[in-house]
Amino acid sequence: MVSDMNEHRDKLWHGVAIITGASSGMGEAIAKKLAPRAKGLVVSARRFDKIKSLAATLGNHVLPIACDVQNKDDVQHLVESTIDTFGQVDLMINNAGIAPMASMTRCRVEDWENTIDTNLKGVLYGIAAVLPQMLQQKTGRIINISSEAGRRVFPGAAVYCATKHAVRVISEGLQMDLSARSLKDGNDIKVTTIAPGYVTTDLPESVTFEPARKGFKKNMQNVEDPMSSEDIADCIWYVLNTPPHVEIGELIVRPVKQNI
Ligand code: NDP
Repeated sequence: MVSDMNEHRDKLWHGVAIITGASSGMGEAIAKKLAPRAKGLVVSARRFDKIKSLAATLGNHVLPIACDVQNKDDVQHLVESTIDTFGQVDLMINNAGIAPMASMTRCRVEDWENTIDTNLKGVLYGIAAVLPQMLQQKTGRIINISSEAGRRVFPGAAVYCATKHAVRVISEGLQMDLSARSLKDGNDIKVTTIAPGYVTTDLPESVTFEPARKGFKKNMQNVEDPMSSEDIADCIWYVLNTPPHVEIGELIVRPVKQNI
């Protein structure tokens, strides 16, 4: 029994990870969950002060790097600095996201652009930056944070939902392309979409249209026994520790009492 437990512990995930959007909410919780088992961990976001103090609490193997995922060069630099520092990258968590919701009828084009540039193009930049290294290593994990909004459409959130649907579809397509290539080169790169329901975080603060922000906060507060960011970090830990031949394509996770 004890030797079984030791064997399991020895097989737990232990690698070099990058997390985007680690300055708050889920990204921060994921960083705290992974840090004790990481060979190296890079926490990134735009608010450098936040990730710098987070890294300081997690250990010398945790590196804060400022990165705006809307900027392709920033994302490339994030990955190159990780490889320069730790020699490899085993896990990319494309988590950074915003939710500037409002009815389509308001034609808030700037919000639409920001949402697409962060939630969709940011994820694509992350994939493009890590994939060559992972293909060379023939191993790696890419986890993209979508949403329940990647499976359904909510009123007043069409563009947000569209980006999260796109993240799910891109993850699935990437997974297929990697599996096809794996038959030829034997890579074991796994791709997972995490699709959470309501999680209590600062996400409503990213809503620029005030009435929509109030509505979002109210919906979040109305969920009895909501999920925490730590619940999502636990899901990621589960995904990382499946046996080598098992790939979790998508994990939809929601509060039991969420009724919308
Ligand atoms: P938070 O607002 O707490 O976290 C969002 C993170 O994204 C912050 O660290 C923020 O950091 C970062 N971020 C935003 N824009 C950029 C950018 N341009 N470049 C780099 N980083 C950026 O919200 P959550 O933790 O809830 O959100 C995390 C992910 O989870 C998002 O993708 C969100 O869509 C998704 N999600 C959230 C749900 C919820 O109910 N909370 C449900 C389903 C999915 P900074 O401002 O410092 O750059």
